[in-house]
Amino acid sequence: MSKPAPSLGVPSSSSTVSVRIIDSTTLINFSPSYFFETSIYGHDDLAAPAYVFLITNTASDGSKRHILFDLGVRSDPENLAPTLRENLKHVGAIINVEKGIAQILDEAPTAGKSTPSSKEIEAIVWSHHHFDHTGNPSTFPSSTTLVVGPGFKSKMLPGYPEDEKSSLTSSDWEGRELREIDFPSPGLKIGGFKAFDYFGDGSFYLLDTPGHAVGHVCGFARVSVSPDTFVFMGGDAAHHGAEFKPTEYHPLPDSLPLTGSFKYHSIPCPGEVLLQAIADGRANANAKNLGSRTEPWYEPLAALCYDKPDTVATIRSLEEFDAQDSVFVIIAHDGSLKETLKWFPEEINGWAKENLDKSSRWYFIRDFAKVVDDFGSA
Ligand SMILES: [Zn+2]
Repeated sequence: MSKPAPSLGVPSSSSTVSVRIIDSTTLINFSPSYFFETSIYGHDDLAAPAYVFLITNTASDGSKRHILFDLGVRSDPENLAPTLRENLKHVGAIINVEKGIAQILDEAPTAGKSTPSSKEIEAIVWSHHHFDHTGNPSTFPSSTTLVVGPGFKSKMLPGYPEDEKSSLTSSDWEGRELREIDFPSPGLKIGGFKAFDYFGDGSFYLLDTPGHAVGHVCGFARVSVSPDTFVFMGGDAAHHGAEFKPTEYHPLPDSLPLTGSFKYHSIPCPGEVLLQAIADGRANANAKNLGSRTEPWYEPLAALCYDKPDTVATIRSLEEFDAQDSVFVIIAHDGSLKETLKWFPEEINGWAKENLDKSSRWYFIRDFAKVVDDFGSA
């Protein structure tokens, strides 16, 4: 029996936004050892996409407001701040980016019609200040505001070149409004998170989700009414499905429909064998919850957290959103969703009717397919 999902206390509203997910064409290859306290046998490479969200609010007079949530990696990584370039070289990160977001918007056949051009973007929200989310705001007009989370201005300014060591470039906000969101306390809360009603009509909230980085925020969009359904834009609140799944709300099922071939892992992955190997503890000794049906398997690496207790608390609250049938949680780097998501210029608003959440819930487990290969016949 699974535990019933807790109430999130989302204020009621009849307003929705359109949400479109842009594949930022970013692909980052990192070792999972940079992200998680524990290692799982055979999971040696995190091939991470970086999702970008285009959010459109339509007023009663038909006028539209467009914002972006995150930008992926800039398409000219040679212009990242020098300190950051050095650090990336040092850790051996392999980063490929084909196009910037402004270019993707402007080249779309629908640009200026059903989708906005880069000139029509009111604001860019950074979930946080890491390079795989900040893109290149200077490719947008000066009328585009840059929105950041609490503490950003006091902790992160000035950027490069004023501060030689800064990982950020001042050109990201020079000549445009830099708006820091304040989450007053007491104030609006949704689930465990403080919330800010961005358009003022209940269609889209920014959530205060601290821990991974200074002022980390998530996005929470209402994409349909009666019934209410939502998209949770997770940024880097977590980096892998195994950090917030499984839970008591959604325990690992007895068998997994994981056979077949997939874009990310073309290995047939018989769920029964995987479960047996992890239950036997052969897959790894140091992952304490590995194989648990009710607790997530990965724990965020302290060195990657701005504040580890806050990071863990944010993930526990994220699980309460993931528990809802009405919420589709999409973290920025979840490669396991890549073949499930609908892409810009299409909307993701119909995800519930199309069963996208349910069909992809356990896809992250395919990252552990080597367990099956190596222990499956034993
Ligand atoms: Zn990231």
